[in-house]
Amino acid sequence: MMSVEWNSFFAKRTKNITGSQIRHFFALTEQPEVISFAGGFPGNDYFPKEDIANSLVHLVREEGRQALQYSPTEGTCDLRMVLSEKMYREGKPCEAENLIITDGSQQGIDLLGRILINPGDPVLVEEPAYIGGMSVFKSYGGITLGIDMDSEGPIPARMEQTIIRWTENNKKPKIFYTVPNFQNPTGITTSLKRRYEILALASRYNLVIIEDDPYGELFYDEDIPLSYKALDREDRVIFLGSYSKVLIPGIRIGWLAGPGQLIEKVTMAKQTADLCSSSLGQQLACKLSSEGFVDKHVNRLRKLYRQKRDVMIDSMEKYFPPDINYSRPGGGFFIWVNFPAYYPSSKELLDLSLKQNVAFVHGEGFSSNGGGWHSARFSFSQPSIEDIIIGIRRLGNIFYEVEASYSVKIAGH
Ligand code: PMP
Repeated sequence: MMSVEWNSFFAKRTKNITGSQIRHFFALTEQPEVISFAGGFPGNDYFPKEDIANSLVHLVREEGRQALQYSPTEGTCDLRMVLSEKMYREGKPCEAENLIITDGSQQGIDLLGRILINPGDPVLVEEPAYIGGMSVFKSYGGITLGIDMDSEGPIPARMEQTIIRWTENNKKPKIFYTVPNFQNPTGITTSLKRRYEILALASRYNLVIIEDDPYGELFYDEDIPLSYKALDREDRVIFLGSYSKVLIPGIRIGWLAGPGQLIEKVTMAKQTADLCSSSLGQQLACKLSSEGFVDKHVNRLRKLYRQKRDVMIDSMEKYFPPDINYSRPGGGFFIWVNFPAYYPSSKELLDLSLKQNVAFVHGEGFSSNGGGWHSARFSFSQPSIEDIIIGIRRLGNIFYEVEASYSVKIAGH
C-alpha cells in the first residue's frame, strides 16, 4: 500500500514553521532522574489545587449555564471588567472594550503576527529573545532582528542603527517585540530610562511596541518600572498579560490590551482561530481575581520563588568557576549564564551535563544574530531547593574539569 507523501500537501508558509529546540529535548529532561533547569514552567507544587477545585465545583454547579457554554470571542464581560480595573490599578489604564481575552499570551502574539506581519517584514526583537515569540513572527514570514542588550535592557543606539540600516534597504521595521520585565531568557528588566528612550525611538520611526509581560508581578526585590503601556501617549503599545505564571497555565487564559481599531482586527482573527477562549477558564480567572485570591497567591509565590532564585544564585557563586558570569534577575524564572569564550560551546556543555543528569537550555535558539554559543538559560522555577543545590554543584564540577583540561592543553603547547 502506498502511503501519503505528506510534504507535498503542506502549504508553502509551513516551511517557516520550525519547532522550538526546547521541545526537542523535553522528553529527556522530563525523566525523573534528571534535574532540569531547562523548562520555564511554574512550580507544580505551587498550584493552588484545593482553591481551584472548590471554585470549579461552585462554577459548574451554580454558574454552569455560562461556564460550560461558548462565550463571546473577545472574552466574558466580567473578566474584561476585572482586568480593566487591574490595568487601572497598575497605572496602565485600559477600558474593558480595549481588551480581549486570549488563550494565554502566546495566542496574543500569534494573532498579532497574523494581522501585522507580511512575509519578509523585519521585526525587532531582543537579542537574545523569547523563542516562542520569535517562532510566531517567523511562522508568518517575518525576519527577526536582534537588538543587543546590556543590564538595563535593549540598547537604543543599536536599535536605531538597525532601523536605519533596514530602512535604507527599503524594509523599514514596524514592530518591536519586548519582554521588559525579568525577560525570558535573560532575566533582565528594562530600566525606566531605557523605556522612555525606546518609546521616543518608536515615536520617531513609527514603530508599534508589543509589550509581553507574563512575569512582571513576580518581583522578588523591588517593584517593576512603569510599563510602556503606562508611558505611551500615542496608542502605539500593545500589552500582553497572562494568568499562566501568577495562577496556572492549564486554563490558558491571557489578555491583549490595545487601541480599538487593533482590538477589532484581533477579534476577527480570533474568531477563525478558536471562536472563544475557554469559558470555564475565564470564569475561574474572574472569580479568583475578583475575590482577591490571585493577589494573595502572587504574594505567596513571590516568597517561594525568591527563595529559589536566592538558592540558585548562591549556589552558582559557591560552585561555579569565577570566570562564569550570570545575570541576577530581580524576579521571574530565569538566569542567563555566559561562559568564557575558551569553553566548548554551551551545546557541548549541555551534552556533558546530561551525562550527569542535569539539564539547561543552550543559548543559540534565543538568538536572531547567530550568537548564544557561549550562553545558556537556567530556570529555577520548577526544581526543588535541594535539587537546585545538587544540580548546580554537579555542573560546577563539570565546569572546573573543563577549565582543568583547557589548562593542560595550553601547558602542552
Ligand atoms: N511570553 C513569554 C515571554 C513567555 O515566557 C511565555 C511562556 N513561556 C509566554 C509568553 C506564553 O505564555 P502563556 O501563553 O502561557 O500566557
